[in-house]
Amino acid sequence: MITIKSAREIESMAEAGRIVGETLALVGARAVPGVSTAQLDELAEEFIRSHPGARPSFKGLYDFPASLCTSINDEIVHGIPSARRVLKDGDIVSVDCGVCVEGLHGDSAITVPVGEVSEAAERLLRVTRDALDAGIRAAQLGNHVGDIGHAVQRVAEAGGFSVVRELVGHGIGTSFHEEPQVPNFGKPKRGPRLVAGMTIAIEPMVNVGKPDIRTLDDKWTVVTVDGTLSAHFEHTVAIQPDGPRILTAVHAPVSA
Ligand code: MG
Ligand code: MG
Repeated sequence: MITIKSAREIESMAEAGRIVGETLALVGARAVPGVSTAQLDELAEEFIRSHPGARPSFKGLYDFPASLCTSINDEIVHGIPSARRVLKDGDIVSVDCGVCVEGLHGDSAITVPVGEVSEAAERLLRVTRDALDAGIRAAQLGNHVGDIGHAVQRVAEAGGFSVVRELVGHGIGTSFHEEPQVPNFGKPKRGPRLVAGMTIAIEPMVNVGKPDIRTLDDKWTVVTVDGTLSAHFEHTVAIQPDGPRILTAVHAPVSA
């Protein structure tokens, strides 16, 4: 069932989303060579919990052990932060974060370059972010979920990349994952119609090579089968009469 949120619920989601955005700005600025993904996770959890009433959505969700998902290079999503995973110059790292405030969630992800990265990696990040922007622009009242996927897919594939099929965006609210599913591919005017008060996470996962994925033995980390780089950008968006409202806008980097 697709749930419609009240104006008050959307404000709580915007509050959660603001903390998500600030957490990502903070973690993104600290993603430098020599830092472990466990250190980034610790920084994020401390920052999130410094806000009264806020908690990390991910910790304990389906028994996930951390506050962030940190996915390096060919890892697409759901990487588990670890003291043994130390960022190196030239890596790209996807950071996915969720925050819960007053029982409502915000969800957002960025992929950031670590030190100096290749031109190909930079282009992947740019195209994936553009694909997210296109998806958000398509999230207009009266459009359908398929319009979002179509817009995302068009930008990603025009850039010469492929979109992951098995993992999709989602409705979000009192539950972290709600209906509808929001695929990163699709046809215009297909799927559920977008109505005011729907809140969805739009989250393109874009691979340099083929779209195929597999899950590592840790049962969490999803990687590209062909070993090519993958990027992930995500915003939580409310469908509103005057257009999509991004609830997880990333603010300027803040200090802890
Ligand atoms: Mg996410
Ligand atoms: Mg999500």
